[in-house]
Amino acid sequence: MALFGRGKDNQEAPPPKEATYPLTPRKVHCSVCKTEKVFTKMWRRAGMMAKCPCCGQVFENAAQLYKLVQPVCPRCDEPLEQPGFDYGFCDGCGSKFELVEGTKPGLIPNLKQRQERDRFGKSRSVL
Ligand SMILES: [Zn+2]
Ligand SMILES: [Zn+2]
Repeated sequence: MALFGRGKDNQEAPPPKEATYPLTPRKVHCSVCKTEKVFTKMWRRAGMMAKCPCCGQVFENAAQLYKLVQPVCPRCDEPLEQPGFDYGFCDGCGSKFELVEGTKPGLIPNLKQRQERDRFGKSRSVL
């Protein structure tokens, strides 16, 4: 019997910090386009984010940020993806959504959308 995968299983390999799994594209109702759109880029997050996808801030203590119900980047306010949740980008407008089975997709506002939101008043408290 040949030995396959020799040296592949390091006993103490740390779990990947930035693990995401691609999902098959599907149609999702986009609240920005106000219609159903195909989301080609979809993924499920398996671990905490180690780095902000918006401003590039590295999270030295991500676990601390993830103690909040809705963790955000301390530098730019980017909402962070949560382990076990699905995310996707709308093919129509490029907006990012958090996709939870059985509920409306929740917009993850990008920097421009956050600035607009802040400019047009305090919509933060409106959920
Ligand atoms: Zn950031
Ligand atoms: Zn859209």
